[in-house]
Amino acid sequence: MDLIVQKYGGSSLADAEKIKNVAGRIARAKEAGNSVVAVVSAMGDSTDELIELASQVSDSPDRRELDVLLSTGELRSCALVAMTLMSLGHKAVSLSGAQAGIRTDSQFGMAKIAELDPQRITNELDKNKIVVVAGFQGITPDMDTTTLGRGASDLTAIALAAGLNASRCEVYTDVEGIYTADPRLVPDAAKLDEISFEEMLELASYGAKMNPRSIELGMVYDTPILVASSFSDAPGTLIHGEVDMNKNVGEIRNRVVSVATDPNVAKVTVQGVTDRPGIAASLFEPLAAEGISVDVIVQNASAGGKTDLTFTIKREDLARSEDVVRQVAEGMDSDKVVSSTGLAKVSVVGTGMQDAPGYASTMFRALADEGINIEMITTSEIRITCIVSEEQMGEASRALHAAFDIASPR
Ligand code: ASP
Ligand code: MG
Repeated sequence: MDLIVQKYGGSSLADAEKIKNVAGRIARAKEAGNSVVAVVSAMGDSTDELIELASQVSDSPDRRELDVLLSTGELRSCALVAMTLMSLGHKAVSLSGAQAGIRTDSQFGMAKIAELDPQRITNELDKNKIVVVAGFQGITPDMDTTTLGRGASDLTAIALAAGLNASRCEVYTDVEGIYTADPRLVPDAAKLDEISFEEMLELASYGAKMNPRSIELGMVYDTPILVASSFSDAPGTLIHGEVDMNKNVGEIRNRVVSVATDPNVAKVTVQGVTDRPGIAASLFEPLAAEGISVDVIVQNASAGGKTDLTFTIKREDLARSEDVVRQVAEGMDSDKVVSSTGLAKVSVVGTGMQDAPGYASTMFRALADEGINIEMITTSEIRITCIVSEEQMGEASRALHAAFDIASPR
């Protein structure tokens, strides 16, 4: 008997009808002879609604209390799914993150899973029950409820799949899998049958709607992840470690697997800083201490002993970053601090790029031909990212998708 962990996202559980659909799918997996653990997200946009509600009663809601509040979204859906399964004639039980044995550190809102004690889950599975687990939450050694970060029900599912040694983790959502580009921006984007963990990690970190930490976990524990639609029986995309690399060998254009786009970018520039050892450290240390993660960093060649430092961050971190940077910049007698939003990242990702020349030039040419200005550039071994204006994000992704001929199978 196979053990399968399934995960259903909020849009698949948005109302009673959708919950019945999900329960039907879980029941089918069980009836096919599997042991099933189902991890569920909060219904629809209810996490956003809870955050909004909290902001109506407090300007800066206490982080511990906010986690108690947010955890209720997933509790609601797991109880409803368990009830529905019972009405379909199955044995089922809902478990909170704590009951499921998900132990975390005490970083409210962004807790890390420290340990998994799957005893209760295995006991319930042994009783032939379908176990429905509330995603996105855990418990600290002090028995405080924590949440694991936005979109982290995926993380719960993959952690359980790894910890229970499941044969795979199936992530069900409102799209049919991972695409060669965002289909809302690029009409001829195609669904991928498979993708490697490394490529998916880059895509998730640069805009694809999956939690990057969950991909990392799948990679570390070598747990294959199937991403598929909860509304159809289309086969989905398998994220795994055994993608046939020979497929990527060949012409340049066949080695890029996908274009990722992310409009959540803000930029801060510190102008006219005296160029001396330690300026970057004194700027980025306080940002790190504030928990702000900085993405692309560019330091200009200095002229007359002065230089400019520019970096990007998520938009929601802009106000906090400006506060930090203004304070530090005073001590560095910089000329001024300027910031902007309205930017986006477009990235091309593909494992085959690392040992072939010509990718960067192809990318820059494609953008230039569309009259798109590149503000900043950053690369990894298997990714090239350009910062462009948000208005041109769609155009840029269409141009790259065409230039690398990504829609045709590799
Ligand atoms: N409900 C949480 C969120 O919206 C977790 C998740 O959906 O995975 O971020
Ligand atoms: Mg959600």
